[in-house]
Amino acid sequence: MAVLEHLTSQQAIDLENKYGAHNYHPLPVVLSRGEGVYVWDVEGKKYYDFLSAYSAVNQGHCHPKIVGAMMEQAKTLTLTSRAFYNDMLGRFEEYATSTFGFDKLLPMNTGAEAVETALKICRRWAYQKKGIPENQAQIIVCENNFHGRTTTIISFSNDPVAKEDYGPYTQGFIKIEYDNLVALEKALESNPHAAGFLVEPIQGEAGVYVPSEGYLKKAKALCDKYNVLFIADEVQTGIGRTGKMLAVDHEDVKPDILILGKALSGGAYPVSAVLANDEIMEVITPGSHGSTFGGNPVAAAVGMAALEVIKEEELAENAHELGEVFREELNKFIPTCDLVVKVRGKGLLNAIVINDTEDSSTAWDICMKLKENGLLAKPTHGNIIRFAPPLVMNHEQLLDCVSIIIKTLRAFRK
Ligand SMILES: *Cc1c(COP(=O)(O)O)cnc(C)c1O
Repeated sequence: MAVLEHLTSQQAIDLENKYGAHNYHPLPVVLSRGEGVYVWDVEGKKYYDFLSAYSAVNQGHCHPKIVGAMMEQAKTLTLTSRAFYNDMLGRFEEYATSTFGFDKLLPMNTGAEAVETALKICRRWAYQKKGIPENQAQIIVCENNFHGRTTTIISFSNDPVAKEDYGPYTQGFIKIEYDNLVALEKALESNPHAAGFLVEPIQGEAGVYVPSEGYLKKAKALCDKYNVLFIADEVQTGIGRTGKMLAVDHEDVKPDILILGKALSGGAYPVSAVLANDEIMEVITPGSHGSTFGGNPVAAAVGMAALEVIKEEELAENAHELGEVFREELNKFIPTCDLVVKVRGKGLLNAIVINDTEDSSTAWDICMKLKENGLLAKPTHGNIIRFAPPLVMNHEQLLDCVSIIIKTLRAFRK
């Protein structure tokens, strides 16, 4: 195709259906432009984006500073491989480690790769530092977790759709109930070969489950007691989303290993990272881990700009304030409506629970109506709709969105 022709929505959908693997079930909307909190479809209709690419676009679509840094670097040097040094990576590593308070950063590209990296670091630490016998390390994970799509990660998922027929699965994981400290202590006590506890500070994909207050802090203390690494997967909750730079900041918890992705690039480019202090990160030695694209100069420039935008525009503070307004407004509305059971969340990571069975199509049908009314959101699990707009939203826009949501729910008939 030499000349790119203008496609209608239906043509674009037909092309994907015919030539693309069917590993997603998208809402039938074809987007061709984005700016700040808005996206436009190919017919020119404008929408509020209430998914933000699963919280990758916290800084808003096509943020000029991030896109500018990317374009500038793309014209200068894009990739050297790590066989050589480049003049951007060290700067990004210095900036990110000082932002988050760790000695070292290991750059990767996607969230799943960063999780894999964290698991590898944790296992090495188990053998080389904790003295666990070879191949005996166990990592504790939570039920209903979401950490990505690789073979090892889906091995400890309990979502049958993500897992079925991808075996044989990777060994070495113990699954416990989320938000259950008794279960955690029991697992730590009864498994002397426990090496790490991998946890999402809020379970995003599972339906925005916010654990009880104090859970993270006490879980960290338990991990310390048993000399087990506390590994926070902040791929979705990090970078301002929940009203703090990190979701663990709400409880003043410092993870032993921190995993970042998604908004680490503001959605411009795949950038992920694992952060830890020297005592842990030093188990990684030349040749023992790597990635062709991880730490490339474009990723470094983008990552630095993305973090600067969060700080300069005070987006975590904005997420905190707007999140309070969002839940307050919905909490006023919910008692007047049979369709919604509750709203929950932190900062601008929220969800409403629909009053219907998990296998019903009600949440999907509501999202179709929201789309007609100019707001894009998607069900997470069955009857839960996640609401996570870009953090560059202002007060007036948020109230506009609340009124679209309420109007849509009021008018909704099954
Ligand atoms: C999205 C996500 C991942 C995986 O990130 P990818 O970039 O899709 O591989 C891992 N952990 C959490 C908590 C996520 O939300």
